[in-house]
Amino acid sequence: TTDARSTHVPHAVEVVGVSKAFGAVTALEQVSLTLDAGEFVAVLGPSGCGKTTLLRCMAGFERIDSGRVALGGRAVALPGIHLPPHRRHVAVVPQEGALFPHLSVSENVGFGLAADGFGARAGRALRGGRPGRDGTGGTGGGGVRAGARAARIEECLEMVGLAGMGSRMPHELSGGQQQRVALARALAPHPPLVLLDEPFSALDASLRTELRADVRTALREAGATAILVTHDQGEALSMADRVAVMCDGRLRQVGTPEEVYTTPVDAWVATFVGEAELLEVTQGHGDRLDTPLGPVSVLDGGPAASHVVLRPEQVHLVPDRGDGLSADAGAGAVRTVVRSVDFHGHDALVTLELPGGRTARARTGAHPPRPGERMLAWVEGVCRAVP
Ligand code: ATP
Repeated sequence: TTDARSTHVPHAVEVVGVSKAFGAVTALEQVSLTLDAGEFVAVLGPSGCGKTTLLRCMAGFERIDSGRVALGGRAVALPGIHLPPHRRHVAVVPQEGALFPHLSVSENVGFGLAADGFGARAGRALRGGRPGRDGTGGTGGGGVRAGARAARIEECLEMVGLAGMGSRMPHELSGGQQQRVALARALAPHPPLVLLDEPFSALDASLRTELRADVRTALREAGATAILVTHDQGEALSMADRVAVMCDGRLRQVGTPEEVYTTPVDAWVATFVGEAELLEVTQGHGDRLDTPLGPVSVLDGGPAASHVVLRPEQVHLVPDRGDGLSADAGAGAVRTVVRSVDFHGHDALVTLELPGGRTARARTGAHPPRPGERMLAWVEGVCRAVP
């Protein structure tokens, strides 16, 4: 195990080669993921890919089969070693229904502060001896004193936008407010690591967007390292410092939102993280390939490249006056017909019929062409080529 007093700063989270099976079902296969202190990582993947299992292995609710997990430089799980959840100093914010219904908002938030060994002292120790950024991490002695405890509760309620609502009961709150209380309760004991398991999934769209931003801010203010599990790519891309894309128990790609979006490692990641489609290569190799949408620049057009991964915003359109030519069109533009238009307000997804009968989608602004219109289409930017 790594000693917190050693010269290097330990990783906040170190998951190395972790595998976990439930009978014949492999939930995690050789998963490795490392987080620095204060980082926010989203684990993104479809239902059943193993996201929750990964979170439960970190929190200590599941035993791992192989690999290891270290938190703040301390090994908490190795085959044969399994620290129980209450000794890992990890806070979990679950999907919903997490509040004690018979306790007031303040009592809910203060719950972890009253519990032994899961207070400010533990959090400070795991952060490598540094006090909390807000100065309250230095509470010494045998627990959180009553005055400091009340102040911490109010501070956490303020952090999640619920100042002054401590005396309410959970049933007097909206779903969004209840999730805010759950977050405040998780943050109250200064946990070095916060795990969020789809905490917004029960909320309606506008509330979700608002809460995402507030949660991000609260976590940053608290200086906590956090892992968010979600199947919502918009949520992952908008909130996280890095996104870990998961499929069938394996991490396919870990990178910044921009890296994962602009340079997906494979077609699966490309189509899961945002809109994308595969366009077949009709000719050529190297860094420029011919496709039914004309020539496309690619990153990695080796001899095996058979398709390019195309984002709809890379497809550009101008009206086709009938002769297939336009001064505005890009080089190698092809003649297409608009088949359908999916209007979203600020933009639209236009499905185009290409020569040879196949289709492709283009993202346009708020004034898309109409079905039946003839358009010249071409691809701009660099695409990834896949076998
Ligand atoms: P969701 O988004 O639907 O919650 P997930 O990505 O979180 O999915 P997990 O809940 O981690 O996925 O499940 C991964 C796989 O392991 C699934 O096939 C699931 O059925 C299986 N699994 C999870 N927990 C158990 C368990 N306790 N016993 C048996 N199988 C399990």
